[in-house]
Amino acid sequence: MRGRNLRGELDTFLAGRERELIDFRKDLHMHPELAFAEYRTTQRVVERLTAAGLSPSVLPRGTGVICDLGSGDGPTVALRADLDALPVPDEKDVPYSSTVPGVCHACGHDVHTTVVLGTGLFLAQQAAAGLLPGRVRLIFQPAEELPGGALEVMASGGISGVDRVFGLHCDPRLDVGKVGLKPGAITSACDKVTIRVSGPGGHTARPHLTADLVFALAKILTELPAALSRRVDPRSSLSLVWGRVEAGSVANAIPDDGIAEGTVRCLDEAAWHAAPDMIKTLLESVASAYGVEAEMEYARGVPPVVNDEVSVQMLREAAEGVLGEGAPMPTEQSLGGEDFGWYLESVPGAYARLGTRTPGAAQLADIHQGTFDVDESAIGVGVRFLAATALTALWDGRRPLAGEPLVSLNADQ
Ligand SMILES: [Zn+2]
Ligand SMILES: [Zn+2]
Repeated sequence: MRGRNLRGELDTFLAGRERELIDFRKDLHMHPELAFAEYRTTQRVVERLTAAGLSPSVLPRGTGVICDLGSGDGPTVALRADLDALPVPDEKDVPYSSTVPGVCHACGHDVHTTVVLGTGLFLAQQAAAGLLPGRVRLIFQPAEELPGGALEVMASGGISGVDRVFGLHCDPRLDVGKVGLKPGAITSACDKVTIRVSGPGGHTARPHLTADLVFALAKILTELPAALSRRVDPRSSLSLVWGRVEAGSVANAIPDDGIAEGTVRCLDEAAWHAAPDMIKTLLESVASAYGVEAEMEYARGVPPVVNDEVSVQMLREAAEGVLGEGAPMPTEQSLGGEDFGWYLESVPGAYARLGTRTPGAAQLADIHQGTFDVDESAIGVGVRFLAATALTALWDGRRPLAGEPLVSLNADQ
């Protein structure tokens, strides 16, 4: 690898392919598909990989693609994209706006898919030339927004044998050419909790002869978030916030059941793992104090994406090497959820933000807005970044001891 000019090779590859990739993304943008319905998108990815002589396989449910590159010894690095669009109307006036009413690639997954495809085509050339020091697995997962697509990939064995996994996401607050990096947690967990309380019910004149269910429910609503905040490390920012509560039908009758629903968000993985048991214990103690029965249903959303430090360092080396010294920028942890966190529960890896804002442009729409769009040059940037990351990780995986990087990413080395 020493003495190779990866920058130059990527320049040559993109000179021939960048236009095609931009058009590929426009085509996906015009034909967005919702979670677990990404049949056409899956087909387009399969066709392009097959045309390059690769052997992609579709996940059992019919959407999502996995494709392995290279056969040599060495580690396996996975690059993950997501295929699904959002149930949001496209409000942009561009020639490539969505042709599907009420559905739009408002989260940039069309860009992620195109970037991983382009990276795969480049790395396949490297593999064919015997220059891939290990294997690369391309993962085009369905249903990130649901979420659940990551679990589908994992259930199909999609990350078995993978030593490290990388993913990226469009960031409209970051200029194109920059990438946002953060070791540790970069997104947050978000779960849903439903609590049902029940009691004998009765007349409001005689609460002492029954269980005052509305009063007990109100105590649960206020005591649980308060007690929780004293049970976990404040740095985990665990928060339980109610969004719906319902009980009773008339002013003078104590109802026999009631329900409350809310979300649990947290920044920290340990708190996320501990949350269900902690909430259940607190719920039982408050409910028993007021003589009502309480049941809890806890629906896991996604864990926080917790970036592995070594993997972030690989992203940084790669970005500096092929995008320039000033390309990596620190980024903040978002309170949003991202199902990439599921992969990182079992495999080390990291998730980066890809700048998509045209430098100097006015404030652009955020993701999940119907006017969200990207600077198309972000696709080429993403391909350079992920290709260099994969090669860095493969070489690093072969390196017995940490030391001087073996990969020479710059032309002048
Ligand atoms: Zn999204
Ligand atoms: Zn997204």
